[in-house]
Amino acid sequence: MFGPPGAGKGTQAKIITETRGWPQLSTGDMLRSAIAAGSELGRKVEAILAKGDLVSDEIVIGIIAERLDKPDCAKGAVFDGFPRTIPQAEALDRLLAGRGKKIELVIELKVDDAILLKRVEQRIAEGHSRPDDNPETLKNRLAVYYKNTAPLLAYYKGQKKLVTIDGMAPIDSVTKAIAKAIDMAGKKGWFG
Ligand code: AMP
Repeated sequence: MFGPPGAGKGTQAKIITETRGWPQLSTGDMLRSAIAAGSELGRKVEAILAKGDLVSDEIVIGIIAERLDKPDCAKGAVFDGFPRTIPQAEALDRLLAGRGKKIELVIELKVDDAILLKRVEQRIAEGHSRPDDNPETLKNRLAVYYKNTAPLLAYYKGQKKLVTIDGMAPIDSVTKAIAKAIDMAGKKGWFG
């Protein structure tokens, strides 16, 4: 799942997990749990998340490598918030190849910046925001997204794996468009 912060990646990844049974691998959630647990990793990354900067490639590649070896990933997984840089994407390709697997489909949720800001303000108003959900940090998270992560779209487009979906449509329509893209990718023989 690909897209700027607030695009709906997490929401849609959870629905895919429910309907297809592929676990959601969210590096953001894993890092937040490490912070909540007060582990050494958590202490190392806390300030970075608070600012909306990226944690080092080495750290996130390490946590994904470990997670991929859990038995629930045997039949597939939904990556949410990973990879976020070209070196992470290259490392993921290597990790998957070493396990006889590959990325089958990349779904980009496209949402205008003004709407992302509104969504974050709504999350704050509704009381289910995260510590890095504030307009200032969002601006930095967006800048980081366009600088480091958006170039990955060309990487996956070149591999003919990219499907772009309007993330401003109602949640249900986005879910349906994603389901269609997954089914189509399956028919084309991408899965298997
Ligand atoms: P997210 O919940 O995906 O928006 O991630 C929250 C924060 O965790 C990000 O703003 C980064 O600080 C950090 N983070 C999550 N995933 C990655 C990643 N793949 N690479 C680097 N930093 C990440």
